[in-house]
Amino acid sequence: ERKAALAAATGPGATSDGHKVPLLANVGGPADVPAAVEAGAEGVGLFRTEFLFLDDSKSAPTEAAQVEAYRKVLEAFPEGRVVVRVLDAGADKPLEFLTPADEPNPALGVRGLRSLLKHPDVLRTQLTALSKAVAGLPVYLEVMAPMVADRIDAKDFADACREAGLNAKFGAMVEIPAAALRARSILQEVEFLSLGTNDLAQYTFAADREVGAVSRLQDPWQPALLDLVAMSADAAKAEGKSCGVCGEAASDPVLACVLTGLGITSLSMGAAAIPYVRATLAKHTLAQCERAAAAARAADSAEEARRAAQAVLSGE
Ligand code: PEP
Ligand code: MG
Repeated sequence: ERKAALAAATGPGATSDGHKVPLLANVGGPADVPAAVEAGAEGVGLFRTEFLFLDDSKSAPTEAAQVEAYRKVLEAFPEGRVVVRVLDAGADKPLEFLTPADEPNPALGVRGLRSLLKHPDVLRTQLTALSKAVAGLPVYLEVMAPMVADRIDAKDFADACREAGLNAKFGAMVEIPAAALRARSILQEVEFLSLGTNDLAQYTFAADREVGAVSRLQDPWQPALLDLVAMSADAAKAEGKSCGVCGEAASDPVLACVLTGLGITSLSMGAAAIPYVRATLAKHTLAQCERAAAAARAADSAEEARRAAQAVLSGE
């Protein structure tokens, strides 16, 4: 019964008083598209392109192979929005031809955008393939870089996009605390932000996302993480730009309401979570979401933040 009610609920994400929050899907390639369409995703908020590269870690896929994969995803959302993340190699996703083998601490090493800036040919091929894939399609393409640390990173990425002649919006992922702290500076170079809360939690709490023993610190309800989300959203608002969330945090329906209350402008998640987030968001006003967000930020632990937000949203 609950499943039927959820399946019946479709349409764009919005609070009960009509504040729109586009609900987008995280995908790893064309194979994930049918589930996203089925869930009523309004587009893709995170296309993790590294999955195209992981099949063969010795060399990058050809430009033609990339064009084909990108086009399949782009075609699935006519008039919709697709946010493609350029290759995020390194750390937990090493690639032989890109990632240094001898890093003592790969999570803090040459990964994400850092590795693309060291291998501009790989970035150029990817941007050219995206440019070709989007040609003639009505879709609204956005391209973002993983692991942007500062304004110099953001500028280097935007320059590479311009040089490739890419007709898209360029954005930066906020996954490093420094990027949240100086979000306004980064926004001088790019047009949007997207928070990767998985890595942002990892780097904020110095807690490896792969290590179960420190999972308490990886909890996206941690008030310190919510503070960094709020900082990024405030910066984007001040610059008249958008700031989405594409980490796991967006897939928790109650936390999705809190993120909305913090000023996040879109939420991207695994397709399976979309109906639940849509249904929960539709039950609350923006003002309630804002009160829940304030209550969560006033807490001293993740558990307390969760309880406080839930209490506000259930009208206790
Ligand atoms: C994140 O870090 O939150 C994110 C969305 O990227 P990934 O999980 O692919 O590192
Ligand atoms: Mg990440």
